[in-house]
Amino acid sequence: MWRVSSAVASHPGLRREENEDAFCVRGDLGLYLVADGMGGHAAGEVASRLAVDAVEAFIEDTRHADVERTWPFPYDPKLSLDGNRLKAALRLANRRIAAAVVRDQALKGMATTAAAVLVDAGAGRITVAHVGDSRIYRRRAGQLAQVTHDHSWVGEQVRAGSLTEADAKRHPWRNVVTRALAGGDDPEVDVAQLDGRQGDLLMICSDGLSGVVGDDTCQAIITAAASLDQACADLIAAANAGGGPDNITVALIKIDVD
Ligand code: CA
Repeated sequence: MWRVSSAVASHPGLRREENEDAFCVRGDLGLYLVADGMGGHAAGEVASRLAVDAVEAFIEDTRHADVERTWPFPYDPKLSLDGNRLKAALRLANRRIAAAVVRDQALKGMATTAAAVLVDAGAGRITVAHVGDSRIYRRRAGQLAQVTHDHSWVGEQVRAGSLTEADAKRHPWRNVVTRALAGGDDPEVDVAQLDGRQGDLLMICSDGLSGVVGDDTCQAIITAAASLDQACADLIAAANAGGGPDNITVALIKIDVD
């Protein structure tokens, strides 16, 4: 049985009035989620909140699922049960966004990212899923490494070798996402299983952190902090010290193996 501790913080940053990021931290469900909303006139706030609420409700409803319950989506035999739950939850969130736009045309064009971690402390399993450019990292043996691929234009260029990470952070198209929950067709959801070891730490963040503060700096801040709450506060402070151009959200999850 793992002991799982967590902390989360969110801040509008220094240049925006609203905070269009949303998050959910539910230790009882093992669910940790960050969503970064996009869209004018506060619509981004609606998209990220809708997505978080939809994912949280679906994961709660299927918490005792010993059957392959992913309705209205087909069960994917290549994925674990938790992988299927997360994939279905993100697709359901996408449909909720579509339905909200049908009800209120002022919300047209809204979208959100979603990056989720589902921890099964009893079985010792971690499942991650994401759509968009919000990131999930794992720190193991002091090294922080991203475990997701950004679904962004610059992310694709970095993977193809035509842009460096540093170029990507400054590129005028750095905010262009290639996949999001935008109410269109059921989105492709990247799902992965991670193992867990004593002391592993997972970080979920919006690009208001990862686009401003380098991975090495994040790693140093987490290592130096006396607690997970302090680490979250220090990461937000670092993003704001870097100009705070965007909303900043960070969740940290620590695994202790008894
Ligand atoms: Ca953002």
